[in-house]
Amino acid sequence: MSKELSLQETGALLLAAEKIVLCTHVSPDGDTLGSTLGLARFLLQQGKQVTVFCDDKINDSLGFIPGMELVQRPVAGTKLAADVLVVIDASSFDRIGIVADVVEYKELLNIDHHISNDRFAEYLYLDPKAAAVGEVMVDLFQAMGWSMDKETATCFFTAINTDCGSFRFANTTPKTMRKAADLLECGVEPNFISESLEVRSRKTVELLGKVLPSLTFEAEGRIAYLTITNDLYDADANTDSFVSYPRSIEGVDVAIMFKAVEPAVTRVSMRSSKVDVSQVAVHFGGGGHIRAAGCTIYAPVEEAREQLLAELRKQL
Ligand code: AMP
Ligand code: MN
Ligand code: MN
Repeated sequence: MSKELSLQETGALLLAAEKIVLCTHVSPDGDTLGSTLGLARFLLQQGKQVTVFCDDKINDSLGFIPGMELVQRPVAGTKLAADVLVVIDASSFDRIGIVADVVEYKELLNIDHHISNDRFAEYLYLDPKAAAVGEVMVDLFQAMGWSMDKETATCFFTAINTDCGSFRFANTTPKTMRKAADLLECGVEPNFISESLEVRSRKTVELLGKVLPSLTFEAEGRIAYLTITNDLYDADANTDSFVSYPRSIEGVDVAIMFKAVEPAVTRVSMRSSKVDVSQVAVHFGGGGHIRAAGCTIYAPVEEAREQLLAELRKQL
């Protein structure tokens, strides 16, 4: 069980540390990377020894985030001592890959916004109402009186923009927009960020063309899903946005993408307009938010699909 910290206590814990390791979750998105790199930039400016770990491949479209060159992939078998390990935008310890084995930390701090957070860390700052950890970061910086330069603000705006779907999703609150406005005051160019996030590789669009024919409906059209079979799977393509296609179809409550990342490992992404898909994800050891959640099922894609749909039908 975690001790829940205030923003002040979170800031004080960071300022008290010298050697700090920050880490993102696997399958990194703009929120985990933007939040991590913005905080890393500030801590470096304070003269801290900062290491940034991400135990996964990073999509090219996120390469524009300021400070991306700081990100290192942890090497199995190595050890790194730290005063504090800060886990950002991850709701459980298994979401950080081998960072958990490599870093020998004295204190463990988790900054998160997932309703499914399992309170794995000794210290936790959790705000499930925040659209993104990027929003929490702006709260933290403002509570502590820490200044944000244009690059830091660009990191946090990218984080917020990613998780609230450019201010279109239900998690967008008046506060989300106010914090984003504060970031614009710091010089952020929103068009640069959205244009950068929108860039797709040819491979990605070609894969989308092959995946769209798999579109299938269930439950009188209330469920729609896409399937990326193992022969189509391409680690270099960015499939993050694919689930938005079934999501946008009229009458669809739950949109799903099943991706066979290995013959017996299936990644599941869910988006919903009514049903609480985080509960379905947690049932399979994953997590997320009410309207956006995911999990990994250790079974071939067809089998994983049957298991997940059976659980989802119970929720409908
Ligand atoms: P995605 O479908 O990958 O965009 O993820 C949607 C939301 O669910 C994000 O907030 C993720 O952090 C979360 N999520 C996805 N997969 C998992 C997982 N295996 N475990 C916990 N949370 C997850
Ligand atoms: Mn995330
Ligand atoms: Mn997030």
